[in-house]
Amino acid sequence: LRRFYDPLDDLAMFANSYSSATAALEKISGVLEEEPDVREPAAPVALPPSERGRALAFERVEFRYSPTGPVVLPEFDLAVPAGQTVALVGPTGAGKSTLAKLVARFYDPTSGAVRLDGVALSDISDAELRRAVVMVTQENFLFAGSVADNIALGKPGASRAEVESAAGAVGAHEFISRLPDGYDTDVRKRGGRLSAGQRQMVAFARAFLADPSVLVLDEATSSLDIPTERAVQGALESVLADRTALIIAHRLSTVLIADRVLVIDDGRVVEDGSPAELIAESGRFAALHTRWRDSLV
Ligand code: ADP
Repeated sequence: LRRFYDPLDDLAMFANSYSSATAALEKISGVLEEEPDVREPAAPVALPPSERGRALAFERVEFRYSPTGPVVLPEFDLAVPAGQTVALVGPTGAGKSTLAKLVARFYDPTSGAVRLDGVALSDISDAELRRAVVMVTQENFLFAGSVADNIALGKPGASRAEVESAAGAVGAHEFISRLPDGYDTDVRKRGGRLSAGQRQMVAFARAFLADPSVLVLDEATSSLDIPTERAVQGALESVLADRTALIIAHRLSTVLIADRVLVIDDGRVVEDGSPAELIAESGRFAALHTRWRDSLV
């Protein structure tokens, strides 16, 4: 059924109700249909200044979606140093998206804590958390409006020059300039329809402009042709520089640029190391790597 779902069709309906700057940030901080179910702290703790991402930690995190539901994460511990790019791989249902959603604070852990630079997410104000953590998923690659509007969502009030500079930084300026109305092309209109790779690049330009210290990315599963994949990969690398990132990776090329790969199964980390280390270990990741590589030739 998912095949028939086009986020643009649904989101067009929301175009009018989402106009304020705050709403714009809410849009990019997560997936629209999934409203965060968490409370703003009464006495928020300010995050320290950050230059190159923030340390991200899961401390004895237990998580279930409902009080009577199954435990999705039994006791999850993870320390990600500031600036590290972590790729999550593993079978469907392993808990990768749940980990991503906990970092964007769609939910609070049932017990334990997720921390940014030592501060529990539940102690950070909503506004500061939205600035610090941006989540990019297939569902929020594009919203109704022009290409420029879509990029500007990253920073409400951004000038056209800032929008173009973000697009330039991720290598998207050239294709955008060639669209029928350039940056003013309506992404819903005939001729404005962007390819899967172009949509991702626009989402990366938006994330670049938002400049979060932590990027959570659920990479698209749709396969791209090789030149497009290269362009998307280049865009991704520009967005990853100087921030901490958690990527649910579906492409071999993405996994290979990660500093660290975590193989997740049944809510647990079963392998943890650099891509080269895990390939040398001949375990689950090595097998996956061989399968991915063979499917490319
Ligand atoms: P992955 O991203 O690795 O495919 P998920 O994090 O989506 O795994 O899922 C982990 C487990 O949590 C699965 O058993 C899944 O069915 C369950 N789950 C995911 N989302 C929800 C939800 N919104 N409500 C209840 N259970 C969920």
